[in-house]
Amino acid sequence: MSQSTAALQPPTALQRFAPKSAFWNDLKAAATHHLAAETEKGRPSTGDPRLKRKAAMIVVWFGLSYTALLFAPTLAAALVAALSLAIGASALGFSVFHDANHGTLFRRAVSNLYAARVCSVLLGPSRHFWVYKHQGLHHRQPNVLGWDDDLETRGRLRLSPASAWKPRFRLQELKAVLYYGLNTIEWLFWKDFHCLIHGRLNDWHSLELDKHQRVEFLICKGLYVLLFVLPPFLTLPLVWAAGAFVVFHFVLGWILAVVFQLAHLTPGMEFEGVRAEDDWARHQLRTTADFATGSRVATWFTGGLNHQIEHHLFPNVAHTHYSSLRPVVRLIAERHGVQCHDLGCISHAVGQHFSLLRSLGRATVHT
Ligand SMILES: [Zn+2]
Repeated sequence: MSQSTAALQPPTALQRFAPKSAFWNDLKAAATHHLAAETEKGRPSTGDPRLKRKAAMIVVWFGLSYTALLFAPTLAAALVAALSLAIGASALGFSVFHDANHGTLFRRAVSNLYAARVCSVLLGPSRHFWVYKHQGLHHRQPNVLGWDDDLETRGRLRLSPASAWKPRFRLQELKAVLYYGLNTIEWLFWKDFHCLIHGRLNDWHSLELDKHQRVEFLICKGLYVLLFVLPPFLTLPLVWAAGAFVVFHFVLGWILAVVFQLAHLTPGMEFEGVRAEDDWARHQLRTTADFATGSRVATWFTGGLNHQIEHHLFPNVAHTHYSSLRPVVRLIAERHGVQCHDLGCISHAVGQHFSLLRSLGRATVHT
């Protein structure tokens, strides 16, 4: 994958981290010890059998929901099937696509690659653009404007106090409800193609796909449209299929946007860039929060993304380990006086996110 120099420079240069701190060295040693004990119990850090069973369950859920949609006998049944499919697709994205791209679903890299490709067909996103956006930028420098692409909304929302305020951001907390709902329609049917044609991920980062990557992009997008977009329009009345399409994407877009945004975009997080004294691990903790970690349903459904601190510290460990890693992280952090942010239950976390949107939309909160 070639990554040419961007025509526009990000507002801040790539910020360097301080050398590894004693906190990170101690945490890494404790986590390594913990994960070795888990491996001996048959739960390895990658290719955890629990994760494979979960992935199989989600694929079955996705398949049954899609079949129910294709053969829905009434409009109401089609909409319920679309709702179930959207929730199943979210789970597939969180627990299979995300883990496979981080190399944790299977032990072998080639198996993770094919799992990610299959997910690209089932869900529609370009694997290459998403991996660069998520791992190349977001995980590398979370909440740093110009480097974390999760802050990039093409001017629609102001997600960081470091970005300039404009009048159109007033009441953005209300606009976000619609914008998040349209997220996957824009991403899958416009943004991926815009990135491919222009060879850019956003204003600041170029990403030219080579010939093989372009072929993979077109095959996955083509199969996605042929297998998962067009068939409902062939088996169902047009109005039912259109209604199911809207319900599916609105619910999917909202779930994806909210789960990926909650853990970084709340008032307690830092947006000022990397502090001079911070190493990589400390920066992750200043910009990341856990939420709803007491809920087994939330942990299962979000693919461990509610344990966002553990995910950012150990992105190459299967998410099935995050619950047991959490007390390890807390213990070492407390020893070193490092704060771990926790947003509490999901409704409070959503409230915090919209509170940030509201305050950033006001003219008084700007750089
Ligand atoms: Zn990740």
